Amino acid sequence: MVRSLGMALFLASLAMPSSASEDVASPESFFGFEPGADGEMARYPAVLEYLKQIAASSDRVLYQEIGKTTLGNDYVLLQISSPENLARLDRLVEINRRLADPRGLPEAEARVLVEEGRPFYFLYATIHSTEVGNGQAIPLIVHRLATEDSPEIREILDNAVLLLVPSQNPDGQVMVIDHWYQTKGTSRSRVYPDLYHKYVGHDDNRDWFMFTQKETRLNIEKIQNVFKPTVTHDMHQMGQTGARIFVPPFQDPYDPNVHPLLVSGQAQIGLAMAGALAATGKEGVTYNDLFDLYAPARQYMVYHGQPRILTEIASANLADPYRSPTNQPLGPQESRWNFPTPYTKTDWRLSQIVDYGMTAVFGGLSHLAKYRREWLSNFHRVHRDWVERDEPPYAFVIPKEQRDPHALRQLLEILDFGEVEIHRAQADFSAGGTRYPAGSFVVPLNQPYGAFAKTMLEVQVYPDLRYYPGGPPIPPYDVTGHTLGYLIGVEVDRIDEPLAVTTARMESPAPEDRPVPRRPKWAYVIPAETNAGFLALNRLSKDDVPVFRAGAAFESGGRSFPPGAFLVPPSAKSQKILEEIASTSSLPVFGADSAPPVEGFRMKRPTRVGLYKAANNMPAGWLMWLFENYGFQHEVMSSADFASDLSKSYDVIVLPSGTTKSRMIQGLPPDQYDDKWRWAFGIGDAGWAELKRFVQGGGTLVAIGSAVATARDLLSLPIAPVLPEAPSRFGRGAGRRDERPPVQAAEVERLFKESFQSPAALVKAIESRVVDPTSIFYCPGSLLKQEFDVAHPVAFGMPGSWPVFFAFDQAYRIEPSFDVQARVVSRYPDEEKQVASGWLLGDELLRDQANVVWFQVGKGTAVTLGSQVDFRSQTPATFKLLFNAMVQGPATKLAPAELARLR
Ligand SMILES: [Zn+2]
Repeated sequence: MVRSLGMALFLASLAMPSSASEDVASPESFFGFEPGADGEMARYPAVLEYLKQIAASSDRVLYQEIGKTTLGNDYVLLQISSPENLARLDRLVEINRRLADPRGLPEAEARVLVEEGRPFYFLYATIHSTEVGNGQAIPLIVHRLATEDSPEIREILDNAVLLLVPSQNPDGQVMVIDHWYQTKGTSRSRVYPDLYHKYVGHDDNRDWFMFTQKETRLNIEKIQNVFKPTVTHDMHQMGQTGARIFVPPFQDPYDPNVHPLLVSGQAQIGLAMAGALAATGKEGVTYNDLFDLYAPARQYMVYHGQPRILTEIASANLADPYRSPTNQPLGPQESRWNFPTPYTKTDWRLSQIVDYGMTAVFGGLSHLAKYRREWLSNFHRVHRDWVERDEPPYAFVIPKEQRDPHALRQLLEILDFGEVEIHRAQADFSAGGTRYPAGSFVVPLNQPYGAFAKTMLEVQVYPDLRYYPGGPPIPPYDVTGHTLGYLIGVEVDRIDEPLAVTTARMESPAPEDRPVPRRPKWAYVIPAETNAGFLALNRLSKDDVPVFRAGAAFESGGRSFPPGAFLVPPSAKSQKILEEIASTSSLPVFGADSAPPVEGFRMKRPTRVGLYKAANNMPAGWLMWLFENYGFQHEVMSSADFASDLSKSYDVIVLPSGTTKSRMIQGLPPDQYDDKWRWAFGIGDAGWAELKRFVQGGGTLVAIGSAVATARDLLSLPIAPVLPEAPSRFGRGAGRRDERPPVQAAEVERLFKESFQSPAALVKAIESRVVDPTSIFYCPGSLLKQEFDVAHPVAFGMPGSWPVFFAFDQAYRIEPSFDVQARVVSRYPDEEKQVASGWLLGDELLRDQANVVWFQVGKGTAVTLGSQVDFRSQTPATFKLLFNAMVQGPATKLAPAELARLR
């Protein structure tokens, strides 16, 4: 992999301007209003124009466009420091890089580098586009740094370097602010109603370990991995009614892989910010509250030597003021050690968001500049501790023979992108009682970014945090299980003893390419185990090459293939396509010279997928991305589609998690949104009836997560939920953790026991709120054990057992039915412990219950995936369940003799 340092530094050092800073226009004269003024927002292109102007006239500011976003906007980086520091930026970055990898660096030399170096403060704003205030603060921050000659600013410029990304999601900033101005003076809603990132919306900051989106990749590949900043500060906004600003320290739990110096470091910078806010009379500052430091989905930097600095400022009504509906002062009114000054006013405006944001940023910058030696020295210490690590686990071994080489390739690419060094064993060796052949992949943990490798490869044991023993769980801020091998579908072994084998580091880690066999006599065979089989199916279908699947296991050429292998008739065209996919995706292809005596399927060419997407439904956005990546022929459905025969356009319709009956029928209110949003208006009762007709007439409906209840309702599916429904007030981010009602522990235990004899008693207790249902069952995002019926087409290619992702989902039992036939495809095992990684309360309730179920409904089929097997598209190991469900519906069954003809 080419490291992009050279290029970035070259661009950065182009044309150093030197004109006097007095030439810089004030933000107010440039934009025509002071950023933060009520009702006004500077548009993203104008912000860039202004920043370019500053860079052109100031010798403290460098501007560079470092890439394009998903929708083609400029992704921009500013570098701000004293002219002297900018002139030696290459050297300063070199020092950062040396300190980040202290192997072979004597301590004395490190001290010299610390003295010569400067810490880098990496700041980015508005990854969440409706959190508009921080984006407005950016021009003011840059203007102040470019023009002010106070001792405070000189200290910052001389002693630190600011890396600044004016928006981490420019596309959304454009959408939200454009919508604001388009609806100005109308009766329409001013709030942009859809995902403010093309694919992932608000989940754009849940991507920091899978690296799926362009903006994530630019941030990491072009900034984090190049400049090696000392601190990363991510500016956010939160709700309207709580504290006015959150700064670190975070509350428990923190990932134990975060180095102690970074745990204390985030508190130091956060409290320096709190101090600056207090010193300027700003009320309502909270810390050690609301947010935790656990999931890598939200925090790349803490595994790369930096504390995570999160600021969350209360929101207004976008650019309009927010006024307390009760006319009482906003937020909690009792002071406590981590909230010393309650906010005393009853309103809150954009200018205050800007002001709080600026104060926090300058508080953080001043702290970093004042303690520059300590910060660089700590940065070095964190990495030195990792490279000198000498305790179990010592390493992870990834066997080179995996069920799916495509999955193995994905896992290696993710680790490599996160700058984890991957080695290969030079000889056979034994570790932990297992014998590994030469060529096995080895990830030693004594390396600079061992923290990232460790948190991604190990099993999470989430602390059992309760309000009181036996009581309700204290909710985590995000998910609790992220074991990469489980998520992707790769076997990874933890090694608790020093490795006794020579290894060599790989420059571009990937599985060996397996040649596609030359024109077998009967068919190419793609094993069902590989997700890349769907890449091949979709690509071949698009190019009009027929594709078949074996309906049962068979042997060929001394190799056994589990049920569901893809079969492709040999031709020059199919050979070329398969070779192409194999070279980029590690698609395994075998040849069979004769047909096995098994039944099979002719796949529809192509399967036409309708993706139902309600406005602002993130699971649907992730599925758009996933379907594009795997080349499915799919369309995001419009409500107008439901007004005519759905079967004319679609073979299968997918209802993502979050799709409810009422949202489908009602949709966006037409009096609030103009015709541009017609696609998201309600389908009405007639549309609901048409969807039912579509399935009964032969179509396929696939429902995921909470949409299973919708499908059940639509088709009267014979399944019943077995888990207590958590009222939404107990959901994630439900407010301050000490606002929960107290419940007697003994009462919980009694009811829990009783519930096995009488589920009705439990339901009654929950309904009357005697019991917080989360103390009975709770799973906020974990990997749970699962068993699959691999002979069923929906589970083709799955192992007999493998974890599935489960986040506030539901499990089911099958009920008797005369007219709908049901078949369980996967279930929770009949075991005491259900969790594979993460946190789960109430294992017993899942025991032997159904998850994935297939139904025959009239002439059509429905498949319900109770847990989110596609969660944030971060679960490749279980994508096959969804993909199989989609493509099997319209496939044609073939007898062995028909399959043998491959026509
Ligand atoms: Zn946010």
